[in-house]
Amino acid sequence: MSNDTPTDKEDGVTRYVYVNGAYRRYDEAQIHAEDRGFQFADAVYEVCEIHDHAIVDEDRHLARLERSLGELGIAMPMRQKAFQAVLQETVRRNRVANGIVYLQVSRGAGPRNFYFDGVETPPTVVCLARSQSRRGMEAGAAKGIAVKSMPDMRWGRCDIKTVMLLPASLAKESARAEGAQEAWFLDAEGNVREGGSSNAWIITPDDKLVTPPATNAILRGITRTTLIDLLEREGLTLEERPFTIEEAQNAREAFITSASNLVMPVVSVDGRPIGNGHPGSLTERLRAAFHEVAQKRQLA
Ligand code: PMP
Repeated sequence: MSNDTPTDKEDGVTRYVYVNGAYRRYDEAQIHAEDRGFQFADAVYEVCEIHDHAIVDEDRHLARLERSLGELGIAMPMRQKAFQAVLQETVRRNRVANGIVYLQVSRGAGPRNFYFDGVETPPTVVCLARSQSRRGMEAGAAKGIAVKSMPDMRWGRCDIKTVMLLPASLAKESARAEGAQEAWFLDAEGNVREGGSSNAWIITPDDKLVTPPATNAILRGITRTTLIDLLEREGLTLEERPFTIEEAQNAREAFITSASNLVMPVVSVDGRPIGNGHPGSLTERLRAAFHEVAQKRQLA
């Protein structure tokens, strides 16, 4: 094992956090008590995977960050190139070879005020990174996850990647209480929208890949978009359409996608096994091939 390969012991450890232009030690990093991210969830974020010393799909993540900020009328606090430098330096200082880098931008801070004109500071920018052992992740993927469905109680602009994650947090806690590792949000008609922190997919008995359309009701996941590139390369059929829990339970395979879990097999939905109750073979193939199509920016 080389010196810069994180050991499992370093999993989840963050040493330095970028806050508004400076890299602070983790236990000393601070933001304003009246930051609007804290008081109003008036902030957006991105999570990129770090894979073998490379940031995965960085351009797509930064483009989505810019879109999210634009939808909320928050000015880009720095250019894309400067964001790239912050991501790179944060990953380097935290010695992350495999794991994630988290970037958050809030509207800024000022005396509490529903109107934006109380903001007295530039946008708050926070970036941190932590290691995740590949061995642990692959062991998790080999088992797959259970999913529990529940009504979607979030707002109407889930296409914006805001930090307003309380409904997702409550949903995931309630899924966990029933032994599931992800919640699937249902619309009023009983169609699956997406997961608490992932996009939802099934593979039909005739090998079509189905995922709900990217409306304002879901986040257009970057992993979802890159997986669609992979499906095209593999000549697989994609259907962007709603599906129900019943269809999922009768599907050949099911999985979720997110930057931190990649393509993660779903082995049961609401207690009913999918297929033979083990990760599906096509899902495993897509997981294994994902990094062949994803953009990778190698870190110095
Ligand atoms: N939907 C929601 C609600 C999410 O929180 C996430 C992950 N942040 C995703 C989908 C997956 O997005 P991505 O592939 O960009 O990580």
